[in-house]
Amino acid sequence: HARMAGLVREATRVTAAGPNVLKAGARKKYDYLVVGAGFAGSVIAERLASQHDAHVLVVDKRPHIAGNAYDRPDEAGVLIHQYGPHIFHTNSDEIVDYLSQFTEWRPYQHRVLAEVRGQKVPIPINRTTLNMLFGLDLRTDEQAAAYLAARAEPVAEIRTSEDVVISAVGRELYETFFQGYTRKQWGVDPSQLDKAVTARIPTRTNTDDRYFGDKHQIMPKHGYTVMFDRMLDHPNIDLLLATDYRDIVAEIEAGHIVFTGPIDEFFDFRYGKLPYRSLRFEHKVVDQEQFQPVAVVNYPDPLIPYTRITEYKHLTGQTHDRTSITFEYPSAEGDPYYPVPRPENQALFKKYEALADATPDVTFVGRLATYRYYNMDQVVGQALAAFRRLDARRKAFGLE
Ligand code: FAD
Repeated sequence: HARMAGLVREATRVTAAGPNVLKAGARKKYDYLVVGAGFAGSVIAERLASQHDAHVLVVDKRPHIAGNAYDRPDEAGVLIHQYGPHIFHTNSDEIVDYLSQFTEWRPYQHRVLAEVRGQKVPIPINRTTLNMLFGLDLRTDEQAAAYLAARAEPVAEIRTSEDVVISAVGRELYETFFQGYTRKQWGVDPSQLDKAVTARIPTRTNTDDRYFGDKHQIMPKHGYTVMFDRMLDHPNIDLLLATDYRDIVAEIEAGHIVFTGPIDEFFDFRYGKLPYRSLRFEHKVVDQEQFQPVAVVNYPDPLIPYTRITEYKHLTGQTHDRTSITFEYPSAEGDPYYPVPRPENQALFKKYEALADATPDVTFVGRLATYRYYNMDQVVGQALAAFRRLDARRKAFGLE
């Protein structure tokens, strides 16, 4: 079995072969079938294999592991993130400790600039942003707070993303930084979007220009894919890539399924499709050592079709005489990335969630199965919690 499992792993990694690989010899009986090799699926598979000594088959329809966190060297040898920049940040020691079994880290503080009115200024808005944009000389937090308070417009009831921003910083800053960007990103005006979308973005009166305030701000030293490779490198885990689970599920006998794909797809879109916003990524190698001063520059200008440009060397610390960048173009079509946060979509999700609750042989984990925008650390936390539930269930059934 171990040799066969090795073959499956080998063949799928190298040739990204299809479902036939499984027929070529792996076992057909597993304790668990895990659909998806992203954070949710890989963490659960690793826990089940190492803690329960369970036999696990992990299937992903993409030809690689790591889900949306997948990174790879491009044609110039620069490490890039295939699905846009992924910056790891968390306040949880437990999650860092867990992942540290599979990677070392490099400290990285994320900084973002927005190109507006011909200048690159810090975003989230801070005192430096105000001084640069309006030619001011605000020197203290109090002065910056008073400046913003004079511009803020009272909003009786804060419901939408537009209300959140206008009530905090006023219309001019709203239009400069948020309106165009949000329209591009979501395809609708901020007045049509739930307040949660922009409520996550702070406004600062000091000169702190870090994008995140979390306790841990670190990147896997050799990249995400290497970390996932170590996580999945367990003799009890078989890996089948470039395979939709539907093509093999009938051939597999699995005690339990862990599903980390889209929940509406699992239930054959019975109540209709859950809406997602997608992105198109344009990767480019540039013949210069550095392209821009920070990893991410945002473009709120509605006339520029992309929302941001990422330069990876800032994230990875790689030294190279060339550099690689990615343009992000939001789109309605394509892979599901961002659940569209509108109340009617949550209501639709709740109907699927009720079906999931009535399907005890399947555990639904991850951002697609729970239709939530989760950061990576949140998905790791969710997967560890799901493992603990499976563990408790096993103990309750006296299987230990
Ligand atoms: P995924 O990584 O999507 O994994 C699910 C897997 O299931 C996929 O690989 C998919 O191919 C597979 N699958 C689906 N259906 C099937 C099927 N039928 N058969 C077989 N396989 C299937 N988080 C951060 O913390 N920091 C960031 O900076 C950050 N930046 C992001 C930038 C972008 C552009 C996006 C879109 C997300 C970002 N995230 C970030 C969020 C992060 O990507 C997610 O939290 C994380 O990848 C979710 O892991 P997951 O396992 O739930 O889902």
